[in-house]
Amino acid sequence: MRGVNRGAGMREYVHPPSFPDADEVVRAGIAARSGGGVDILLVNPPAPDRGIWIRSQHRVGRRSREGMVWPQVSLAQLAALFPDRRVEVVDAIALRMDWADFERLLEEKRPRYYVTHVTAPTLRNDMYGVFLARSMGATTVAFGTHVTPIPRETMRAFPALDFALRGEPELTLRELLDTLDSLAAGAPRPVGWPEVEPDVRARLQRLFADADPDWRPAWTVAPLERRTALAAIRGLVWREGEEIVVNPDQPFIRHLDDLPLPRHDLLPLQKYRAPLVGGPYTFVVTSRGCPGGCRFCIKHVSYGQSVRFRSPENILAELEMLISLGIRHVHMYADLFTVSREQVMGLCEGILERKWRIRWTCNSRVDFVDPEMLQMMARAGCWMISWGIESGSEEVLRRAGKGIRLEQVEKALRWAKGAGIRNWGYFIMACPGRRKRPSGRPSAYRCVCRWTWRYSISPRRIPALRFSLRWWRRGGSVRAPAGRRWIWTAPRCWITRICGRRTWSGGHGGRFGPGRCGPGRP
Ligand code: SF4
Repeated sequence: MRGVNRGAGMREYVHPPSFPDADEVVRAGIAARSGGGVDILLVNPPAPDRGIWIRSQHRVGRRSREGMVWPQVSLAQLAALFPDRRVEVVDAIALRMDWADFERLLEEKRPRYYVTHVTAPTLRNDMYGVFLARSMGATTVAFGTHVTPIPRETMRAFPALDFALRGEPELTLRELLDTLDSLAAGAPRPVGWPEVEPDVRARLQRLFADADPDWRPAWTVAPLERRTALAAIRGLVWREGEEIVVNPDQPFIRHLDDLPLPRHDLLPLQKYRAPLVGGPYTFVVTSRGCPGGCRFCIKHVSYGQSVRFRSPENILAELEMLISLGIRHVHMYADLFTVSREQVMGLCEGILERKWRIRWTCNSRVDFVDPEMLQMMARAGCWMISWGIESGSEEVLRRAGKGIRLEQVEKALRWAKGAGIRNWGYFIMACPGRRKRPSGRPSAYRCVCRWTWRYSISPRRIPALRFSLRWWRRGGSVRAPAGRRWIWTAPRCWITRICGRRTWSGGHGGRFGPGRCGPGRP
């Protein structure tokens, strides 16, 4: 009745609570995947600051000061192992996606499995992607140089992460997804992967059998139940209730040629850029591991003491694929590209025989080259080598376990320059062991600068390097001076390009531009 206040004379009453329960509805909604859903989404997540960050299976990760967009070849390699699934790669860094864009994309893709690599400097940021995917019903998996040495603490801190893969992720991921599908179906998958092409099937069988002759697929463990099946997957970190279980390590892949060629076609190849490279480029991974013993190096975490390389024919097949995709700039991406002289010479001969007009770069150590090999590399299209020089001080090199001498540096760089190859030098600033040089004497660093462009990075305040440096400090003879925590103190980072009398530098977050660091003023 109009004009009557219904609250007048209201009395209190209390019923037992009976809240709505919509869990079932939401669960059904999550289970009903959209038409565009994919089985596996391999993800390089957005950056913490909309900048360009470098993430990779083999590296610690860092912000790119030089504007280099790092091709996600590790994700393309993983994608190639799943020809029987709907698989996509999202490189949010190359596509310059922010988190809002990325969330929309996840809504659209609704992956069953969200697989991402995470790095130490971007860990919390990367885990936001894991959190989003998990909230949409995906099973989440992470791999990389952060979760390999720190599996329990990473899993403990981020409950949205279902699984972590330690070491090389390829075999563990393949076995994990086959096992989870078997568990979901309540019946084992066929052992021999009959859904895939015979060639891929044979490769998969060889990969598993060569890595571990006693290997038995986890999804064939009887009775098929979650705990026993997951416990049988090497390299897997998983949850059992509140407990985090770290399985025995996955053996290294024995023959890299058995891996199918990476699915470069799934990557945004046209978005990949590097300084001095005039056009889209990508990586070709030619080997894994390095015989060097540099104490600061992350390769010990990824590949331990093992060294494996691909045959020239196998690399040439990948180059042919890239040429068919319109890519003519390549970086031969390896811990040490020149680790095998025979492989490098065979590769160069193959490129010359085919008369391919490709331009490529690589990295090297000054004690793993000779003049004949460098001449051959130049003829085959190599135009720049990035050298791990690290320091202009013999003492620093000795304490870092680098195993090279400055005279070798000078010689190798002169050989390369003579062959027509440009030199790029990597230096680590403020390493333990450096001494103040006597005034008036030119530093050895300044001497090597005559032969190089140089990229200098300081370990200080760069979280990516903390792990390696801590390890170095623990395992080596290096000690921080008393009362001085050199890892944590003031940052310095330059990228400098010396061109004639002019110098360009990029500091923290900087870009190429006129800089303060001139030749001899490192
Ligand atoms: S040579 Fe390079 S890849 Fe090899 S251990 Fe030293 S820094 Fe690492």
